[in-house]
Amino acid sequence: MNKPKPFLVGVTGGIGSGKSTVCRIFSILGIPVYAADDRAKWLMANDPNLKKEISSQFGEKSFLEDGSLNRAFLAEEVFSDPEKVKKINALVHPAVGEDFKKWTKEQSAPYLIKEAALLFESGSYKELDYIINVSSPLKIRVARVLLRDPHRSEDQVNHIIDQQMPDEQKNELADYVIKNNDSKLILPQVLEIHQKLCALQK
Ligand code: ATP
Repeated sequence: MNKPKPFLVGVTGGIGSGKSTVCRIFSILGIPVYAADDRAKWLMANDPNLKKEISSQFGEKSFLEDGSLNRAFLAEEVFSDPEKVKKINALVHPAVGEDFKKWTKEQSAPYLIKEAALLFESGSYKELDYIINVSSPLKIRVARVLLRDPHRSEDQVNHIIDQQMPDEQKNELADYVIKNNDSKLILPQVLEIHQKLCALQK
């Protein structure tokens, strides 16, 4: 008999909410995780078609002489221009979507995880069966990101937060919410959701 197809679970949450931390636990439990934001960066630097499109829309300065992505230039280009953010997302999101589809075919597990900050904003939540939102108070998120990313200023972090869907809205849209604050442990919450998801497969 054919094995049932694994279902697809999205893990989302604003910057610094703890998505990657939560996904590391799922990964230890044997669940394959597709880190869409990391993969997007990889594709921008390595996918020849995507590179060509970025060059033609944002100019040749988008890549350095050695062919690597000119992150500083692109960040400066799109940082404060919502139209340019839309334009680059319109190139990158479909490429990630295709890459994710290919990846799912190579996996074998009860369910698979796609981790991304903008699952709701990008519309890609529609291709997933269940969504988990990692929810964390703003103050904690900003403090954790500043500690993790010394190159970022508080203004930059707040600017990114302003571009993302508010946490309350994500909590309403999600099937499961993991609270990552200073008073709740994430491990038992992940285990509970993992058990529920595994039971759904049977
Ligand atoms: P981004 O959107 O920027 O990728 P993220 O949502 O993936 O962020 P993480 O990188 O998992 O967030 O967490 C942000 C920082 O906070 C990391 O340095 C992580 O180690 C730390 N962190 C996350 N959860 C906790 C926690 N419960 N206690 C202490 N530190 C935490």
